[in-house]
Amino acid sequence: MSVVIKPQRGYYASRAFALLAAIFLVIFGTAVVLLALDQQRVIDANNRLQEQTVPEIIRYQRLARNLEQLRQEGERIFAVNSHASRQQSMFVVTLIASHPSILEHPSAAKLTRETEQFLSEVVRQSVRDDNRPADFYDEWQRLAARLGTQVDDVSIQGVDLVTSDLNVATEAMRLARYKLIAVLVLFGLFLLAFVVLVRRHLIRPLQAIDRALSSLSVVQPAPEFLPTAMREIQAVEEAIREQHALLIQNDQARHVLEQLANKDGLTGLMNRRHFMQVAEVELQRAQRYRRPVTVAMADLDYFKKLNDTYGHAAGDLVLKTFADLVREALRQSDLVCRYGGEEFAFLFPEIDPGDAAKLAERLRLRCSETEIALPDGRSVKVTVSIGLADASECPIEIALKHADEALYDAKHLGRNTVVLAGGHAEAGAASSEPYSARLF
Ligand code: GH3
Ligand code: MG
Ligand code: MG
Repeated sequence: MSVVIKPQRGYYASRAFALLAAIFLVIFGTAVVLLALDQQRVIDANNRLQEQTVPEIIRYQRLARNLEQLRQEGERIFAVNSHASRQQSMFVVTLIASHPSILEHPSAAKLTRETEQFLSEVVRQSVRDDNRPADFYDEWQRLAARLGTQVDDVSIQGVDLVTSDLNVATEAMRLARYKLIAVLVLFGLFLLAFVVLVRRHLIRPLQAIDRALSSLSVVQPAPEFLPTAMREIQAVEEAIREQHALLIQNDQARHVLEQLANKDGLTGLMNRRHFMQVAEVELQRAQRYRRPVTVAMADLDYFKKLNDTYGHAAGDLVLKTFADLVREALRQSDLVCRYGGEEFAFLFPEIDPGDAAKLAERLRLRCSETEIALPDGRSVKVTVSIGLADASECPIEIALKHADEALYDAKHLGRNTVVLAGGHAEAGAASSEPYSARLF
């Protein structure tokens, strides 16, 4: 029988994982690109710092130093008394004023020019009068203060340049840090969701499948599975359910075949082959534990005549009725079979021959008293002869042979009799009235 797999709603695991991988790539690819852009901004700021800002700062420092030196030389012009010293300082002032670092900075260049002209006037005036510079000192102090301010401005401009570049780099790094944290959190959440999904839709269903497969049997109910979205898992679960149904069907078929193989079709009792198998096992068990066990053979009396008189169907009905009587009379543990034709074999575990003979006698009596109604309205009675033998010390075949010999004796004693091998007749001649005499 082929296993039919019903189509179900859900997703193919391969597609679901491809989709997850695509989402992962898009999210984390974007995050990596954003982080790379931030890193590039930091690198750019760093490059700018090295290639532009640092030389600029050096220029500003040089400018500040020159302006400061200009101020000091001016101060010296007022401090010294000799004209030669003033001219030396004036020479330095002129050199500084023509320095490229000053010329390329417009406000510094303007202030320097003004300072140079002022100091040159002071030096020129001091040629005539050595005390003359003192008259200009107040004005010089104002100029010196402006020079000082200019130095500060220039220094601040240099610091501002560095600060600006550092701010850009710091901001980029700060953003990158937040983005990195966000990416890590996102990655953690993604990983968590992935683990939960894999556990719920793959691992747990696979564990359930493993459990279901290892306990798949006819004695267990059909396996139940939790709902899953994975089509492949659904297909396997469906196949397991179908497999379980097949097991049940096969077991039922095996049971039916076993019944057919082991039972007699007419009476429903065991057949001879099956009886011999089961009886042998039972006998071995009894002999191993030295327990009493008895066998018997029963044969319906004058059955040929009954057939001839009432027909084969009536004979069949009598056989079935006798089988029912036997079933009612025996215990669950007793074994009985239709040995062939109108012969029956018995095995009584845990019963010694004496008690078994009493049981057989009750069966004989019950049989002889039972009136069997035939479909045509008539009724018939049948008797049975039974031979018993002790089976506690010999193989089943020998024990049955002894019982058959006792049965033969029962027939010879006039039928409707129970005979125990090595014992005596239970019913005796009193019951051996010919069957035909009572039928007609
Ligand atoms: P006895 O008292 O010596 O046992 O005589 P009997 O007639 O019972 O013995 P015999 O062996 O001569 O005849 C047995 C008959 O049982 C012969 C056969 O037709 C009949 N028989 C065997 N099997 C069946 C069956 O399945 N159905 C019916 N109706 N008769 C059967
Ligand atoms: Mg017979
Ligand atoms: Mg017979």
